[in-house]
Amino acid sequence: MSTLIRGGTLVPGTGDTVIEDGALVLRHGRIADVLHWWDPVQEFAGETIDAAGCVVMPGLTNCHTHGVTPGPLFPSAAACLPGEAWMRNLDRHLLAGTTTVLNLCGFAGMDEVREADRRHAVHVRGATSHLPAAFQAADRTDGRGLGDRARTLSVEQMLEDGAVAIGELGGGQTLGGGGQDLVYIPAAIEKLTGVRMRIDQARRLKEAVLGRFIDASAYDAEALEGAAQEAGLSGRLGTSELRTLIEECVLPSVVPAIEGIREGVLAAARLGVPAIVHSGAATAGVMRELMDTTRGSGVRVIAAHANHPSHTPAEAFELACLGRDNGWPAEASVFDLLHRRHTVTTREHWDLLLGEPGLISVLATDYGRDGDHDELIAAVQDVFARGYRSLAGAVAMASSAIADLIPGIAPNGGRLQSGCVADVVVANADDFRDVRYVFVDGICVVREGKLTEEAHR
Ligand SMILES: [Zn+2]
Repeated sequence: MSTLIRGGTLVPGTGDTVIEDGALVLRHGRIADVLHWWDPVQEFAGETIDAAGCVVMPGLTNCHTHGVTPGPLFPSAAACLPGEAWMRNLDRHLLAGTTTVLNLCGFAGMDEVREADRRHAVHVRGATSHLPAAFQAADRTDGRGLGDRARTLSVEQMLEDGAVAIGELGGGQTLGGGGQDLVYIPAAIEKLTGVRMRIDQARRLKEAVLGRFIDASAYDAEALEGAAQEAGLSGRLGTSELRTLIEECVLPSVVPAIEGIREGVLAAARLGVPAIVHSGAATAGVMRELMDTTRGSGVRVIAAHANHPSHTPAEAFELACLGRDNGWPAEASVFDLLHRRHTVTTREHWDLLLGEPGLISVLATDYGRDGDHDELIAAVQDVFARGYRSLAGAVAMASSAIADLIPGIAPNGGRLQSGCVADVVVANADDFRDVRYVFVDGICVVREGKLTEEAHR
């Protein structure tokens, strides 16, 4: 089966060149040819896609996703999503041009990762966080997704079985971050009072009790009173009750979650695989410590969402610079800061970090609210449109740069070069979110913006 894609702006994903009016030939699941010109009168034995007005790029690779497999959800090992939900999350990735995802719900087993990989056209890769302290942090936050089998797994077994990275080490749920604000604090308060609150209200309560760095000595009674009133809790719950509730919700998992980061980074150094660490205000201290203690070890640690809004923009910038000096590449997560703005309503960190040449290595999405994150391809377009990178450079941040950073995530992929896997995206040049075609292994899985039958297997 052969396909010719011609007439578009070809971005090979190598980070330096763009071919205007180029052409691409896909054959037997591989890229057979990358051409600078295709004579329209020349016959082609196969399907021809007219990509005029489109950009043609490698299928994107997203190195920070959640909820794309069966198995425990998030670093808190929450209950598994139903099959339709993780399949729908994969659909959303695919419809937006992402053809490879790394599942950073690190307690999922490789059988679960392979099930998702088999049932959906998106290539699904696994990571592992099967570490003693990480298990403890999960149990103290949630842990409902952990079955007996998951508890017997180790990082070593998972890597042997095909996992490509250690992570996600730490997370908003276990570290008193956004996951607490979104899920666990509102749930605990609702259970007691019947009052349902928004993420920003929960965050305000938490910061009144524990500050931004999750420290019990930061308690501010006046701020808590104001936050409680704003959240509609006055008269329902006393401030000391509320303080205790929030401390008991947030603190027990924080110490083991930090210890789990140490365990994971040391395992990565020992085993020679990349580790992916949750960057945020609560982990800035341990990240600095580990940059010191692992210096010269050759360990590859990726700072996930270096633009995390729990940092101030200046803190995020400083930590990312320190990471760069220590050889820790930084990932910027788009969350939903471009369009949806449910969970992150500022683009200040994003703009500051991406505006500094070379500070951010790769782009990803993370999860957003219930998986409703902005598209990775929208992040690519934003980075290009704002002039932070060239078009070629922006595409590389979601394709070849990730393939280079995490060996095994997209073997022989992430580039439009002859011999590479034929994972290809054709998107409207004016709005990349308008994805017209996606090919995985040379098979058309999105056609005219809709999933084809081949998307599910
Ligand atoms: Zn994450």
